Amino acid sequence: MDALQTLRKRVDEKRNQIIEMQRDLTAVPALAPQNGGTGEWEKSLVLVRWLQKLGLGTCESLPAPDPRVPRGERPNLLLTMPGRADDRSLWIMSHLDIVPPGESSLWDSDPYTLVVKGDRLIGRGVEDNQQGLVSSVIAAQCVKEAGLVPDRTVKLLFVADEETGSELGIQSLVKKPGLFRRQDEALVPDGGSEDGTRIEIAEKSILWLRFRVRGKQCHASTPQKGINAFEAGSHLVVRLGALAGKFSSRDQLFDPPLSTFTPTKKEANVPNINTLPGEDVFHLDCRILPREDLEAVLAEIRSIAEGIQRDFAVGVDIQQVQRASSPPTPADAPIVSLLKRAIRDVYGVEGRTVGIGGGTVGAFLRKEGIPTVVWGKIEEAAHQPNEYCLLGNLMGDALVMARLMIGEG
Ligand SMILES: [Zn+2]
Repeated sequence: MDALQTLRKRVDEKRNQIIEMQRDLTAVPALAPQNGGTGEWEKSLVLVRWLQKLGLGTCESLPAPDPRVPRGERPNLLLTMPGRADDRSLWIMSHLDIVPPGESSLWDSDPYTLVVKGDRLIGRGVEDNQQGLVSSVIAAQCVKEAGLVPDRTVKLLFVADEETGSELGIQSLVKKPGLFRRQDEALVPDGGSEDGTRIEIAEKSILWLRFRVRGKQCHASTPQKGINAFEAGSHLVVRLGALAGKFSSRDQLFDPPLSTFTPTKKEANVPNINTLPGEDVFHLDCRILPREDLEAVLAEIRSIAEGIQRDFAVGVDIQQVQRASSPPTPADAPIVSLLKRAIRDVYGVEGRTVGIGGGTVGAFLRKEGIPTVVWGKIEEAAHQPNEYCLLGNLMGDALVMARLMIGEG
């Protein structure tokens, strides 16, 4: 019997254990203080107890200080499994925190009490991100029980604060000297598709801009005495439409395969109809292909704004509300081919690499030069009422991860 068969048998035996793990983890709401919670401490203790019970050893604790929670810190846990080689670690990173249940009337059951319906596990957090978290633990357990040794060091990382910006989670960890190495690789099982084929390797750069147009307020019956900031701002919105033509490169990895520049939030100006607005504020949400130069985009935007200042005698202030970019993981990186092979072996489907419009924790690792893939066979029920995951997916994903751990062997 080959290693995969051995592992598959082991994973199959874990059905009840998986349900119990999911039940225990779901019962401890791990909400950030911004979401009215006390953080992930209690949940991390539940996880630690399971890891001990399974004989997987003790976690290294890498907490981030947070005076807002009773414990005074947010937990980040690292479980290391030694492998044959230690030149480049395989990281599997999942997060402990959840989002609030939302409108309770939309739930058919208590969000924090696991419900099992056939192959379906229901409860807040069961998919996001307990499916990935439990899969990684089951994978490690099965590799160990089967007497197999990972071909390289495996690092299971369980982080805090993913749902509210990651500042106290992965962002605090990438700053620790020596923890991550450039030759390491990472799987983030926190995204994917129902058929398990979608492998996310890249993100568009995100640029959120706030435009404040300054004119001169006056009575609307004598517009010649003022400068209409709303009117000038409207022309600015229209002229910014030229950005798509200027930065028009295409990349089929992404959907849509081009950079987008979308006017979005418009702040209220004057409250009454008979005042000419002296100030007007709107926002632009830019999703830019990684190959485009953000500085060139910003220079073009500034030049468009200068044209408006000249033509309408207004001032235009541009504020960067958010700016993030990360280098894509190469489509031919070893982690990508290894994952594709594992997906083929376990699910019998061909993985396909994609880029997304933006914003996963994978970007924080890519920024450190670590090739990172975001993948899972998921129902995409995250953040929804009656969130659920399929046991079959969780077990299949565990097998894929076990396959990654043992490498080419
Ligand atoms: Zn998540």
